[in-house]
Amino acid sequence: MILTVYFKDGQFTEREGLNISIDDRGYYFGDGVYEVIKVYGGELFTAEEHIDRLFQSATKIKMTIPYSKEQLMEMVRELIVRNSISIGHIYMQVTRGAAPRTHQFPGSTVASVVTAYAVSNPRPMTSIENGVAVKSVEDIRWLRCDIKSLNLLGNVLAKQEANEANCVEALLHREGVVTEGSSSNLFGVKDGTIYTHPATNLILNGITRQVVLGISEKLAIPVVEKSFTLEEAYNMDELFLTSTTSEIMPISSVDGRSIASGTPGVLTRKLQKAFTLQIPTSNAGV
Ligand code: PMP
Repeated sequence: MILTVYFKDGQFTEREGLNISIDDRGYYFGDGVYEVIKVYGGELFTAEEHIDRLFQSATKIKMTIPYSKEQLMEMVRELIVRNSISIGHIYMQVTRGAAPRTHQFPGSTVASVVTAYAVSNPRPMTSIENGVAVKSVEDIRWLRCDIKSLNLLGNVLAKQEANEANCVEALLHREGVVTEGSSSNLFGVKDGTIYTHPATNLILNGITRQVVLGISEKLAIPVVEKSFTLEEAYNMDELFLTSTTSEIMPISSVDGRSIASGTPGVLTRKLQKAFTLQIPTSNAGV
C-alpha cells in the first residue's frame, strides 16, 4: 500500500498536491536516478549506503541533487513517521528537472526534482523460505548498469518475459554470461565457494549484495567475484538473488531446471540467518 504523505521539492504533501510537470525530464527521457530503502520496525536499514549511492548515480549522469545527504536522510525519516511505517520501504527519485523537451541538459537555472514516498509492505517470507523460479533472458540493457537510472526498459521487458513464463525474476545474460537479475543481484555456490559477478559497469552494485559480501567475510565463507555462465548456473549447488525488498531469495529453478534438490541450500540458509540478525529488531519476522 502506498501511503498518503509524499515529499516533493522540500514539502510534504498529499498525492493530489504533488504537481508533477509534463515537462519533467524523468517523464520524457527517464533522465534521473532513484533509490529504494527498506524499513524494518520503523527503522531504516542501510540508509546511508543507499543515499551515498543516490549521489554517486547522480554524479555519474552529471546531475546535481539540491539537498545534502543529511537533509535527504531527515526527509526519509520524516516520511516514515508521517506515514506511520512499521515495515515497508521508501522510494525516492531525482530527475533533471522540468524544461521544454530537448535532449541536451537544460540550463543551470533548472533545478532537479526530488520526490519520495513510503510504501507499507511485509517481507516476502514465502519466497524467502521456499525459493523462486527464474527464467534466463538476454541482457539487452545499456553498458552503464552500475547507475541506478530511471531508464529501466531493458529491466521491464526482462521481468515481463519472466513473469509471462510464471517466473518471479529474469536471470540476465550477455552471450551466455550471467550478469544479474532484472531487479536483483545473483550469487551461486559451488563446492562451498560463493561466486558473483564483479561490480563492473554491467551490474548494479547492490547494497544487499554488499551486505552479503560482508556477512560472508565474517563467516569466513570464501567468495570469488567472478562471472559465470548460464550453463554453470544450472549446475550450481545453490543459487540465490539479493535485493533490498527480496533480501536473500533462494532460486529453486532456472528455465524449469531444478537447482540441486530445488530447496534452499545450506549456505543460503546460513546467510539468511545472519542477514536477519542484522536487520533492525522488533519486526524482523513480520
Ligand atoms: N540489480 C538491479 C538491476 C536492481 O534493480 C536492483 C534493485 N535495486 C539490484 C540489483 C539490487 O540492489 P539493492 O540490493 O541495492 O536493492
